[in-house]
Amino acid sequence: MTAEILPPTPAHLTRAVAALARGELVAIPTETVYGLAGLALDPLALARIFAAKERPTFDPLIAHVQPSPPGQRLEALSAAGLVDLARLSPAARRSADRLADAFWPGPLTLVLPRAAGVPDLCTAGLDSVAIRMPAHPVAQAILTQLGQPLAAPSANRFGRVSPTTAAHVHAELAERIAWIVDGGPCAIGVESTVVAVQADGACALLRPGGVTADQIATVTGQPICKPDVSPLALPSPGMLASHYAPDKPLRLLPAPLGQLRVRLCDQLFRPGDVVLVVSGSGEVERARVPVDRVKLVLLSPDGSDGTAARRLFACLREMDTATGRLYAEPVTRSDGLWPAIADRLVRASAPRARVC
Ligand code: AMP
Ligand code: MG
Repeated sequence: MTAEILPPTPAHLTRAVAALARGELVAIPTETVYGLAGLALDPLALARIFAAKERPTFDPLIAHVQPSPPGQRLEALSAAGLVDLARLSPAARRSADRLADAFWPGPLTLVLPRAAGVPDLCTAGLDSVAIRMPAHPVAQAILTQLGQPLAAPSANRFGRVSPTTAAHVHAELAERIAWIVDGGPCAIGVESTVVAVQADGACALLRPGGVTADQIATVTGQPICKPDVSPLALPSPGMLASHYAPDKPLRLLPAPLGQLRVRLCDQLFRPGDVVLVVSGSGEVERARVPVDRVKLVLLSPDGSDGTAARRLFACLREMDTATGRLYAEPVTRSDGLWPAIADRLVRASAPRARVC
C-alpha cells in the first residue's frame, strides 16, 4: 500500500467518507495538525489507528465531532453517544457550555464524562472522553457527511514530529494507509489545548495549545488550575516527556543566541550544526555564531507566535535533514501561543521515552 494524496474534491470526500464508514483509516486536514481519522465508536477502527501509529493504548484519543449550533453543542455530544451529561455538575455544565460556544469550532479539546458506549480504546479506560469540533472546512465536510464522530490523533508515527502538510503525512505513514486528503498547510500548526472541566466549573490545563489559558479563564470566569500530577491519578496519560521528536536528538540551548557569549558559541557549534532561532529575525543571531559552519533556521521571521506555531513542525522536519547536530533556542515568552510552542520544544528535546 502506498498512500494516495487526494485533493478535497466532492468525489474524493465521498470516497474518504465511504472508507471511514467501513472502518478504514484516512488522514485528514484539521486547522491544528493532520489527523489519522477512524470511527471513534468502532473498536476495530480504533485498533487500526493504534497499530498504524504504533501508539501505546494507554494514550487516549480525541473524538472529533461535526459542527452544531451554539447553545446545542453539549446536547449534540450526548446525542452522538459520546458524553454522559447527567454526570456533569451544574457548574461544570455551565463552563462546558460557555467554552463550546466560545471556542468551537476550533483548537480546544474538552475532557468530559464519557457515555457508556464509548470504547475503552478511545478513552484508555478512563471515565472521561476528550472531544473537539474542528474548524477546518474539509474536516467539517467529512464529519458532516459521515454523521459519526472520528478519532483523529496526529497522522505520524508515535512520538515523532506532527504533520502539518499532506506531504508530511506521506513521509510518515505512506506504507500504512491508503488515503490522505490534502487540505493545504494547517493554519494553526500546533495541537489543540486540552482542558478537563472540573466539578466546580474551573478548568485544569492538560496540554497547552491553540487556545490560550487566559482566553479559557476569561470565558469560564475562573482561573485555570494545574492538573493533579500524582502518579496514582494520571490526569492526561498521553503527555509523555518525550514527544514531537525529530529522528536526531534536539538540544535546547540554555538561553537565546543573542544572550550567549560569542566564545561559547564558537566552542559549542561544529560544522553542519543547525540552530532553530525561535523569535529573532536572524540579525543578532548571525553575529553570534560562525555562520559559515552553522545554519540558522528562523522559526518566526516576523516574530509572531502565530507564525512560530504554524512553522514549528515543518522547521523541525527540515532541521532533521542536517548533517550536524540540532539545537533550538528556549522560548522566553509566556503569552499567546508561546507556552504551546515551548511545550513542544521541551518534549521534542527530552530524552526518548521507551514504551514497552
Ligand atoms: P492527540 O495525541 O493530539 O490525539 O491528543 C490526545 C491527548 O489528549 C492524549 O495524549 C491525552 O493527553 C489527552 N486526552 C485524551 N483523552 C483524555 C482524557 N479522557 N483525559 C485526559 N486527557 C485526555
Ligand atoms: Mg500527536
